[in-house]
Amino acid sequence: MLFDLHCDTILKIYKDNSQLNKNDYHISTEKLVKANSLVQFFAMFVNMEQVDDAFVTCNEMIDVFEREIAKSDIIRKGTAPTDIADDHITAILTIEEGGVLKGELANLVHFYKRGVRSIVLTWNYQNEIGYPNYKYIHKDKGLKPFGIEVVKKMNQLGMLVDVSHLSDGGFYDCIKHSTKPIIASHSNARSVHDHPRNLTDEMILLLRDNGGVMGINFYSQFLDGSNFSKVSLIVKHIKYIRDLAGIDVIALGSDYDGIGCELEISDISKIHILKEALQKEGFSQVEIDKIFYQNALRVYQQVVTD
Ligand SMILES: [Zn+2]
Repeated sequence: MLFDLHCDTILKIYKDNSQLNKNDYHISTEKLVKANSLVQFFAMFVNMEQVDDAFVTCNEMIDVFEREIAKSDIIRKGTAPTDIADDHITAILTIEEGGVLKGELANLVHFYKRGVRSIVLTWNYQNEIGYPNYKYIHKDKGLKPFGIEVVKKMNQLGMLVDVSHLSDGGFYDCIKHSTKPIIASHSNARSVHDHPRNLTDEMILLLRDNGGVMGINFYSQFLDGSNFSKVSLIVKHIKYIRDLAGIDVIALGSDYDGIGCELEISDISKIHILKEALQKEGFSQVEIDKIFYQNALRVYQQVVTD
């Protein structure tokens, strides 16, 4: 089974007016079935510099998500951990860009009511919550006062705080202020490839101690800086993180349909290639199950209530 913490497929469907059931993207319902998917996070990614009103755009994207999910019974929208079951694929709404809240906690409650259960606090721009780690310009800047309020409110509502893209300083503030495990939905190890989107050893250990997980990102720029996403590189990051911090901090966050590089695992239906590569490297079935779905499920069950 598979629990993938990040994809941008809905943006493609929103822009192209295409379908989730069947398409040429990295993720479709058809491909998720082949992948034996249990849970797929669908990010509503809003580029703040390309839209007039980020709140409105985000709601339009959720409308598209709802429309597409309604077309099939194999994939169903889920919110509560009890919605997750192995007789169907559970699609979970997430947001990538906390700027859609426009600095209002009421908008956080609005999106919670629409079913959103996780938010990537920033993308590559500064917003009301905090600063991105983009090019390390704001590396050491922490959360803004509204960001600390957001973390507390997300804890209270039962939503996952997602620190991928966030400044290193913001990461430390989330660890400090969150009373529940947090996630880095699509980030790798900075010691394996030095990139601002990846986490340092210190951050990985803090995330482990916090009870959270990091979703391994398949984008080659975060694997080794090349344009070819090789399975061996994904395994290299996983091995490094396991040896550093143990198996329980590792999950998957493919970033499918948000990445433009050449991919050895060309779409999610081919995810068995990763499983086979891990087996070859001596990973046990217990370890593979933890990486593929159990660790992410554990955190989801701990943080989300309904
Ligand atoms: Zn992203």
